[in-house]
Amino acid sequence: MKLVVASNRLPVTAIYRDGRVEFREAVGGLATAINSFLRATERGRGLGFTKVLWVGWSGVKAELETDEVRSKLRERGLVPVPLSEEEVELFYEGFCNSTLWPLFHGFTVYTAFEKRFWDAYVRVNRRYAEAVASVADPGDFVWIHDYHLMLTPAVLRQLLPDLAVGFFLHIPFPPAEVYQLMPPTWRNALLEGVLAADLVGFHTYEYVSNFIRAVAKFLGYRAESGALRVGRRRVRVGAYPISIDYAFFHGSSQRAEVAAEIDELRQRLRGLKIVFSIDRLDYTKGVLNRLKAWERFLKEHPRWRGRAVFVLVVVPSRVGVPQYEAMKREIEREVGRINGELGEVDWTPVVYISRFIPTPTLLALYNIADVALITPLRDGMNLVAKEYVASRRSCTGVLILSETAGASHELLEALIVNPNDESGVAEAIARALEMDPQEQCRRIKTMQKRLSQHDVVKWAAELIHATALAYAENREAA
Ligand code: UDP
Repeated sequence: MKLVVASNRLPVTAIYRDGRVEFREAVGGLATAINSFLRATERGRGLGFTKVLWVGWSGVKAELETDEVRSKLRERGLVPVPLSEEEVELFYEGFCNSTLWPLFHGFTVYTAFEKRFWDAYVRVNRRYAEAVASVADPGDFVWIHDYHLMLTPAVLRQLLPDLAVGFFLHIPFPPAEVYQLMPPTWRNALLEGVLAADLVGFHTYEYVSNFIRAVAKFLGYRAESGALRVGRRRVRVGAYPISIDYAFFHGSSQRAEVAAEIDELRQRLRGLKIVFSIDRLDYTKGVLNRLKAWERFLKEHPRWRGRAVFVLVVVPSRVGVPQYEAMKREIEREVGRINGELGEVDWTPVVYISRFIPTPTLLALYNIADVALITPLRDGMNLVAKEYVASRRSCTGVLILSETAGASHELLEALIVNPNDESGVAEAIARALEMDPQEQCRRIKTMQKRLSQHDVVKWAAELIHATALAYAENREAA
């Protein structure tokens, strides 16, 4: 039995350099999670898979995707789905990132409902399903990821009915009243689309119950103990919070290149307490609210001026989308204003880094930060929060975390805040900086124990196991 993974992007990006094609490993939660799982299970052989294939877009516009690119990808078990320039605009930037992303995160005013986006989404989802069907055989296991591919399970089921299909949503599923804003034919098709899988997984119970309520409200299907009844099939629905490669992060300070970076950063930031955050540039991440809270903290607790610094890393993302460009300028303006108003000749309140940072630097920052200030307005999970906790081998450090991040359902010993409560966040920063080291250790240890027992390999294995059970049941009932 083969394992076929399908996601919007392949885990590598094809790039052209001096007329030659090269492949760069993709970064990001999904690719990292699945690659860790594949490594740990000897590419799935530990779970009985004979072969692993991955279907997705290579990152190169179809017009540039040559036979050479395709055959090199195939050698690595990667099956490219071509997307034209127009499809990238209408499907990826359009329906995925201007409709589903804002709506599912509750940013209704940013949501565009355009028929041409929807038409491209339908067309491209069909192409992904056809690409999976072209490499899958009856009885194979197909694992479909995220909001880009919500229609793919249903099309695939029509093309090849006898497959075990698992679908996982990596972003929140919104309350039914928010989902209702979507035109009826689209919203019903999306729900029917994922319900063609044997199992539909989410990060938290909150998203599960939102989904079940939306299905009941718009399609009328009944929920029965952990599943939805869809005709003769039972579709399992459950919470499977994604996790991290715990050992990798926990051992990071022991690696020479990270240790060297830690020493270097400690030297440069000597004597200062470090408050740290890292996010992709995105309106869901609450960077502007966070800056306001940092400013309020410095104004209300002036004794910390000159003694603490906020290292704010914002990694470029979705470059070229006007909303994102505007937000970048707004962040730059706020950083400049705060530094101008509160800074001193020998102290800068906010150190702002606006670029992708290499992994050893990220790991070093996790290790030296006294406080991680993770305050998204809405976040499906937030892996950065988990990575920070796992990295704290010293057993010190305080995590401040939004109640609106999926991770807050597991990281209960964080200082939990509401990202819009400016004074609450400012007080949490003060409390974190003043927290007794024993209390820090108690909190960190409890969270580390939970993360180490539930790492990314366990996440994937549980999902695959539950999907296989659901598939067996449905096959019997058919
Ligand atoms: N990340 C990285 N380098 C960077 C910034 C981020 O490797 O410069 C990784 C980070 O370690 C984490 C992921 O990107 O694994 C971000 O995942 P998260 O769930 O926090 O947010 P998302 O970007 O998926 O919304």
